[in-house]
Amino acid sequence: RTILITGGTGFIGQKLCHSLNHNDFQLTVLSRQSPEDVKTLCGRVEPIASLEALRDHPGFDAIINLAGEGIADRRWSEHRKQQLRDSRIALTRQLVELAETWESPPKVLVSGSAVGFYGDQGQQAVTEQTAPHDEFTHQLCRDWETEARRFEPLGTRVCLSRTGVVVGPAGGFLQRMLPPFRFGLGGRLGAGSQYMPWVHRDDVVNALLWMMNTESASGAYNVVSPSPVSNQDFTRSLGRVLHRPTILPAPAAALKLALGEMSRLLLTGQNARPARLLDAGFKFEYPELEPALRDAIRSC
Ligand code: NDP
Repeated sequence: RTILITGGTGFIGQKLCHSLNHNDFQLTVLSRQSPEDVKTLCGRVEPIASLEALRDHPGFDAIINLAGEGIADRRWSEHRKQQLRDSRIALTRQLVELAETWESPPKVLVSGSAVGFYGDQGQQAVTEQTAPHDEFTHQLCRDWETEARRFEPLGTRVCLSRTGVVVGPAGGFLQRMLPPFRFGLGGRLGAGSQYMPWVHRDDVVNALLWMMNTESASGAYNVVSPSPVSNQDFTRSLGRVLHRPTILPAPAAALKLALGEMSRLLLTGQNARPARLLDAGFKFEYPELEPALRDAIRSC
């Protein structure tokens, strides 16, 4: 089978490509990086630098669409917000327009989104049915999902991964958090009562593959572990697996001052549940936090 992947060089994408490499798929990876670098990161794939290269392509069996500028990489100026939007929404629009020119449209599109779709939800349990709170992350994910759903009229089955906070070795947000924690300078963020809907990267990759391979799957899925925890509990668990104290909280006011609106990523959250995945019988390899953290810190 042939698969087009965007975001294949990323933290999730690399692991996804390596899993697919074991399974004899033909992978094409869209990337701004050099073909050599893409092959180093992704393994046996065909790199392409622009979607234009696929104008006369007959089409792919599946598309997995994960590309996007890092949401937590820089303060959210208006310019930065536009980059966050363009790298997801405009790119997905280009994909739809391209697929419209192909002889056969993809059978399935698995497209990225995030639990940020729901915005700040306080303490209440959040399933795929929960009404979102309107804020920047909601608008970004909503518009990204809307663009992906434009594949549906082509006859493509569309699955959306509302991914939580991904933990895994050598990358993602843990890699940034670890240095202070290793020095015993970690602590809760703000009040610490905000939920962190964490998920291990292996489970994200398995969920993406499950969506791709399961004919009956469609629509939005919360890709989060079945046991979300508060920031306070996450902090304590990380301290335990690192054998370090975690007594230095980062005050909310300081985070707001340093990060502006982006501080909402740290100070608000969602008590999100993978309701639809569990209903479908999906099995998590890392349902509990501490084993997931132990695996994640081994090579960070
Ligand atoms: P990474 O930041 O590790 O990778 C992002 C990927 O997107 C890279 O492969 C990069 O490709 C591509 N990309 C970045 N900017 C652009 C751009 N301007 N134009 C085209 N491509 C671009 O992301 P993750 O693997 O962590 O996440 C994948 C997706 O899942 C992202 O969209 C992210 O928002 C979402 N997500 C991730 C979560 C997490 O905790 N990791 C949580 C929730 C959602 P290249 O440099 O090769 O061009």
